[in-house]
Formats: sequence, C-alpha cells, structure tokens
Amino acid sequence: MKVLMNAGPWLPVPPDGYGGIENIVATLVPPLRELGVEVVLASVGSSTLEVDELVSVFPEGQFRQLQRPYNQVNGVVPAHQHAVVRAVRERPDIDLVHDHVEAAGLATLAALGRDDPPVLHTLHWDLHKHPELYGTFDGGGRVWVNGVSADQVSRAPEALRAHTVGHVHLATPLAEGADRRRPPDKGGHVVILGRVTPGKGQDVGARLAHRYGFDVVLAGPVGPYHSPEDLAAVSTSDNPDVAYYREKVGPYVDGERVRWLGTVRPPGRDDLVASARAVLAPLRWSEPGGTFVVEALALGTPVVGISLGCLPELVDHGRTGFLTADEEELPDLLEAAAKLDPAESMREAATRFTPAVMAARYLELYRTVLASA
Ligand code: UDP
Repeated sequence: MKVLMNAGPWLPVPPDGYGGIENIVATLVPPLRELGVEVVLASVGSSTLEVDELVSVFPEGQFRQLQRPYNQVNGVVPAHQHAVVRAVRERPDIDLVHDHVEAAGLATLAALGRDDPPVLHTLHWDLHKHPELYGTFDGGGRVWVNGVSADQVSRAPEALRAHTVGHVHLATPLAEGADRRRPPDKGGHVVILGRVTPGKGQDVGARLAHRYGFDVVLAGPVGPYHSPEDLAAVSTSDNPDVAYYREKVGPYVDGERVRWLGTVRPPGRDDLVASARAVLAPLRWSEPGGTFVVEALALGTPVVGISLGCLPELVDHGRTGFLTADEEELPDLLEAAAKLDPAESMREAATRFTPAVMAARYLELYRTVLASA
C-alpha cells in the first residue's frame, strides 16, 4: 500500500519541540513503514523524517502565519493543499491520502475526482464550536474521517460525523518498552505541558499553585513565541494567546511558585515530565487527543485534571491519575496522585499508547476506507 501522508505546511516533521500534528505524523510513519506501507510525506522542505518521498511547496514551516480557526484566509493552506492534489495526480500508484489539515484543506481534498484515491482525514482539534468550517461538507464520496478520541468524534459537526470510520488514540515512542524501564525519581514540582492558551487552563493551575502552595512549571509556547526573552521583546501583538498570557497567567509567574520556561525540547522535556509528581491538566476545553497525557503516562507521571474531552478515555481514575469536574479539587488530587504507583502508568502506556498499536489501528482504518471507496 502507498499512502500520501499530509502533515500540512506549519512545521517540519518531526518538529523541533512543540508540534502536535507533526509529532503524531513522526510517531505514526516509522511503524507504518515497518508494516510495509510506502509513505510519501507532504510537509515543508526542512522535514527530516525518513520516508519514501517528500513533497513540499514551502521550504520552511509557516507556523507564524497560523491564524486558527480561519487559517485558510492567508493562502498558506490552499497553496500547500494544491501541491498535495498535484502530487497525487502525478503518482497514480498512491492508494490513499491520509490528511491532517483541517477545514479548508479538507475541502480541497474533497474536490479530488472519481479517479483519484480516497482520503482519510484525521481530526486533530476541537471542532464543535466551528461547524461553519465544514458547512455542508459531504466528502464528495472520497473523504472519510477519524477522530483522536471517541469524545471528539461524538461532538464533531454532523456533516463530519456522517463520514466517520472511528477513532484512534494518540501514541508516543516513549511508550515503547515503558513497562521494562525503572520508574523515575520524583521531585516536588507539577508540570503543565502544552501551548499556553485559555483552553489548557494555565491560569487555573497558576492560581491554585499560589492559593494552595505547590510549585508549577509551565512549559510550552505562547503564540509563536518560544521563550520568555522572545515574548518580552514584543510590545504589541494581536495574538489571543499572547493577551491571555499577559493578562491571566503572567501575573502569577513569580519564578518560584510558578515558572514559565517557554518551549522545552526532548530530552530536557522528558526529564522535566518524568521528575514531576504529576502532570496537571486544568482544562477548560474538550482536549481532543492529548499527546501530553500519553507522554506523561509513558514517563511514569500520573495525570491530574479536569474530566473533559479525551481525558476519561486515557486516564484510569485512581490508577494512572485522577480526574474531577471541579478545579478546586485539583490540589487534593495532586496530593493523592503522589501515592500512585508510576509503574502502573508505564504499563498502561506500553499496552495502549505505543506507535505500533497506533499504526496497526490506522492500517485497519485505511483498509476500511479502501473497501468503502
Ligand atoms: N511540547 C513540547 N514542548 C513544549 C510543549 C509541548 O515538546 O514546551 C509537545 C508535547 O510534548 C506534545 C505536543 O507538543 O507532544 C503537543 O501536543 P498535544 O496533543 O499535547 O497538544 P496540542 O498543542 O496539539 O493541543
């Protein structure tokens, strides 16, 4: 089987540090190729993932142009997607397109004709608030959809749900052999890992840290800014995450109780998470797939968070972490999580969240799509 894997124009694959979709593609492709799937990657020129062929229009990632949710307006997505369609037409041996680009990208692919291969489009974020992005999408009889959690699929716009072939939980290479590693030594800090944005609730974690007296480390970019120095150099910005950080999070960042490190990269990122007593997820949105959750479990760190989105599917309450609907309960649950056995989280990750498990599941979905087409 030959698949065109479309990772979009935002960041190289693998990304340097932050990168949700690009991390997933980098995790999925190697085990897929081990299963005999040939992969043509559509990404940016600076991608270094080993594949059978790379196609791109942009030499470098266009992350700074990203304007969610209407990222199509600036023309980056259409230019990239047209290159994908062209690549498909020039390579008649491609059996299927696995697309990871939201909304406008999907519409472009739905325009593929009868003689083109079918498309599996993976939903990566929370779309229920933006049904207009998909309008009356009918897939053109060529596009099928999968989610990254059952919860995400259940709340997707109706137009998409009609074409859904299932969901596949996210995976991490850290889960491979996690059950054979020694559980890590724990420090006293709690980590919130991810983009600094209202849905991830960094302000909630920072407020609770001061009120209840525990140490929180925030790791992740603020909009396109990857370090406190980068952000400090910007006087005005219309990026909503910059405004969120400056108004709601920054006032709590005192360098002691609450620190913001900017983007952290492996291996430092993994040491930070493994040595944490918990990863905190004070969510306000329905986290669609939560790579940070499966990474934490693989590293032997329990996850404590708000029971929204994919969290109840990934975290086994009382065994690999604790979930609640009430943010004021989070400090007590952080205490309780310190008593959980990290080996349980590592075993869970090694069973459910390895790249091989994810690749086998995607291969199943590819076969379903090919049979339907
Ligand atoms: N990440 C990272 N460094 C950071 C913040 C995040 O490497 O400072 C990684 C994180 O480990 C995860 C990905 O970026 O692999 C974010 O994906 P996730 O699904 O957790 O969140 P998203 O940003 O896609 O909503």
